[in-house]
Amino acid sequence: MITKKTLNLSLKSLRDFAKKRLTDEELIAWDERDECPVEIIRYMSDPDKLGIQLLFIPEEYGGMGGSTFDVYLICEAMARIDLGVATSLFATFLGSDPITFGATPEQKKIWLGRIADEGILFAYGATEPEAGSDLGALKTTADRVEKDGKIVGYKISGSKQWISNGGIADVCTILANTPVGPSWFIVEKDLPGFTNDKPEDKHGIRLSNTAALALDNVYVDADRLVGGVEGQGLLQAQMVFGYTRVMVAAFGLGAGWSALDRAIPYSTKRIQAGAPLSEKQGYTHKLIVPNVARLEAARSYIEETAQRIDAGEGSLNTEGAIAKYMATEAGDAAADASIQALGGYGYTHEYMVEKISRDVRITRIYEGTSEIMEMTISRDRWQQHLKTRGQYYHEQARELEALDARHPGVGAYIAALAAHALAEVMEKARVARLTRYQHILLRLGELIAYTECAGSLARRATLAAEGKLHEKANDRFDTTALATLSRVFAREAALKVAAEGLRWVCGAGGIGDSDMAAFEVALGLPAIHRAQAGLVSDMDYIADVIYNRVAKREEVPALVGA
Ligand SMILES: Cc1cc2nc3c(=O)[nH]c(=O)nc-3n(C[C@H](O)[C@H](O)[C@H](O)COP(=O)(O)OP(=O)(O)OC[C@H]3O[C@@H](n4cnc5c(N)ncnc54)[C@H](O)[C@@H]3O)c2cc1C
Repeated sequence: MITKKTLNLSLKSLRDFAKKRLTDEELIAWDERDECPVEIIRYMSDPDKLGIQLLFIPEEYGGMGGSTFDVYLICEAMARIDLGVATSLFATFLGSDPITFGATPEQKKIWLGRIADEGILFAYGATEPEAGSDLGALKTTADRVEKDGKIVGYKISGSKQWISNGGIADVCTILANTPVGPSWFIVEKDLPGFTNDKPEDKHGIRLSNTAALALDNVYVDADRLVGGVEGQGLLQAQMVFGYTRVMVAAFGLGAGWSALDRAIPYSTKRIQAGAPLSEKQGYTHKLIVPNVARLEAARSYIEETAQRIDAGEGSLNTEGAIAKYMATEAGDAAADASIQALGGYGYTHEYMVEKISRDVRITRIYEGTSEIMEMTISRDRWQQHLKTRGQYYHEQARELEALDARHPGVGAYIAALAAHALAEVMEKARVARLTRYQHILLRLGELIAYTECAGSLARRATLAAEGKLHEKANDRFDTTALATLSRVFAREAALKVAAEGLRWVCGAGGIGDSDMAAFEVALGLPAIHRAQAGLVSDMDYIADVIYNRVAKREEVPALVGA
């Protein structure tokens, strides 16, 4: 277990290293040359130097045994530095995941031991030219090689596409079809028949090496089959989705904040129409505050999910999908808003937000696209809706109402309005059989994610008020600011669920004119509209917190609303 002190020391060494070796000028130069700084990646993976990967490796194999919560914090910190470098380090983690979760004790000892002791780099070879979101369509084969009736090895043939670290890894885990189904194999890069293509010329994360792999009858011994049993590959991949999606969620969060943390100080210095941009409400309330609220709602969900995974609640694939979906969409939107916030300067390389925006875009694609996340979320929660006879979100709403009774002001009653509205939308969709439309199913996924994040942020604000937040939880915002952020986000979520829910139910022919008024009432639209009261002054408060104006505002009450 990693103590808070050790974790903070690791985070500090990472930041100190970045200050010296990963300066903005160097990052921009690598990005422009489309070059992966391999020696930096190796230095960061070297156990005698930075040894970042040790945090991910269990203690029994020579690592530090970081929890999911630790890993989230490290991933956020790495993404704040550079998402390409973060992706490269993450690839070793992802590549060794099938081993961590599916390998035999001997295999773990060898391969996790080598990552810990030698800092070898891994790549994760799942995607193929024709098998992306649908991995079941993979064509790479692993043919048995038998001797005296016993399987002694496999010959692997096929192509892998878009593989992070594909051109620099020492070892790859390759998903290939055995006669009984997909299985993971540990394949060293110098084996005969194993080649990689030149690095891809990408939109973003240009510091990360991404390459196609070709395997032409590559022979591996039978002990390279992960877990020693064929056909377990997709199961082993799924076992870690909750965990790995929390990591990519942390990438979206870190990159989004990294962009905002450039836009915020910039706006205090940039004078337009006689005053800094940071004092213009039309600027802060469009470009900064809503992005902060969405990122912090996503953070809340990430922290809750990480804590639950660490508490042994299972792999939490759906929760991982919600965390990834919300954090990467929010991170992408925040980076885009940061370009806008810097105006023409934001559109140039030098100010970094343009690079961050190109980089963070990938988080909505890899480790499962946003659309696949919407589908995953919706399918699972749809089952819950059916199993509970429509009570799943009404029940969550009741829990939030109980929370509100204990802590009025943390936005729980508004989050409850979102949950009640969602339950009504889902019920209408059930009665009118609207999930036969894939678009409706996926839109429900989005509304579910917003609703659950609103509930999560209200709970986080409550825990903060009660002094019960996780000891390593991010503490950028105090109790009052968290409660305010929660109210801002819950208002957005409730209105979105009711308005868009109504739109899609109506748009798919799920309701007739005569039922419309009753449905609007069932959605709680009047209450959701009334709950918007106070939104602008809450946004004013968040802007004051972000720009360190709270003390001033309290000292000089006349400034309120000025
Ligand atoms: C820079 C980079 C690094 C990567 N690193 C790795 C790596 O290290 N290892 C690895 O194995 N893979 C890696 N990938 C691959 C990545 O995971 C895939 O690109 C991703 O899963 C999407 O697959 P695809 O590109 O084939 O798109 P597709 O699956 O063809 O999807 C195209 C579009 O269609 C949508 N779509 C797909 N299926 C459906 C559906 N059923 N219904 C509705 N819409 C759908 C998608 O959301 C997307 O918008 C990487 C990709 C990139 C670009």
